[in-house]
Amino acid sequence: MSGRIIDGKAIAASVRADVAAAVKALPGQPALAVVLVGDDPASQVYVASKGKATREAGMRSLEIRLPAETSEADLIARVDALSRDPEVDGILVQLPLPKHLNEANVLAALDPLKDVDGLTEASAGKLVLGKPGLRPCTPVGCVILAKTERPDLAGANVVVIGRSILVGKPAALLFLEQNATVTIAHSKTRDLKMVCRGADILVAAVGRPEMVRGDWIRPGAVVIDVGTNRVPAPEKGEGKTKLVGDVHFAEAAQVAAAITPSPGGVGPMTIACLLRNTVLAACARRGWTVPDALAAR
Ligand code: NAP
Repeated sequence: MSGRIIDGKAIAASVRADVAAAVKALPGQPALAVVLVGDDPASQVYVASKGKATREAGMRSLEIRLPAETSEADLIARVDALSRDPEVDGILVQLPLPKHLNEANVLAALDPLKDVDGLTEASAGKLVLGKPGLRPCTPVGCVILAKTERPDLAGANVVVIGRSILVGKPAALLFLEQNATVTIAHSKTRDLKMVCRGADILVAAVGRPEMVRGDWIRPGAVVIDVGTNRVPAPEKGEGKTKLVGDVHFAEAAQVAAAITPSPGGVGPMTIACLLRNTVLAACARRGWTVPDALAAR
């Protein structure tokens, strides 16, 4: 028997439609600034698609591209200026930064009210304290996807593999906020397979291609695969590559009730949740009521 495929593209499209409807209902136009340092090709693609998605949602997009050799002081000055600009509602510094720049120092210059990536210490602190704030986009996407299958997560056993600041830790806290019973597994976890088999919802955020096999999954579980790994694909031709998740999709789909593909699962949700955060940031900062279209999720 094959599990349902959780269509991240379609769900992300519906979140983006909600955002666009919300923007129309606002008294002003939110603006998102994305800062890119250097010319990493993958980052350039991400920044361009974030700008396009922002404009498609009816918001203003500012793309600030700085040379790879930009000094930390100059970058911090740019982020500080955006933080003070009353016309800017959200700021995203595209990571990773070139090696000579300290990410923590740069993020410290970012106004937490505009931290649409949810990565500043202030945003992380609010998440831990259960206070309202901007939550990290990819983990929010994981929860939205899981809730399409299990609208009430109270009491569900959620296992998150991975404890990164970007994904694993905030995902675990967000599922806890939903009253799930959460286990965080990592590289030192003993008998990972058995831990995973206890999961009603299994979230894999490891960065190891197809590590989670079919027999790690409890029959009927929901699997959210955050992993995006580029691997050789000789079957497509010499030197070709393809993207795969942290979960062995073909095996897992035989056992799970539902599973996200990778690509096409969590990935599209990240930008959708970034747009959502930009509207939430604009509302919080400018004292606007959050439109019903966004309040629902
Ligand atoms: P990361 O910072 O490298 O963290 C990986 C985590 O996995 C760490 O906590 C590590 O444990 C754990 N881990 C590594 N090997 C393990 C093993 N053999 N058994 C159990 N746990 C193990 O990675 P990340 O930034 O969280 O990203 C994880 C994956 O998600 C990557 O594939 C990334 O490309 C993808 N991702 C996708 C999106 C998206 O779709 N939009 C966004 C972000 C990330 P330790 O802490 O003990 O080292």
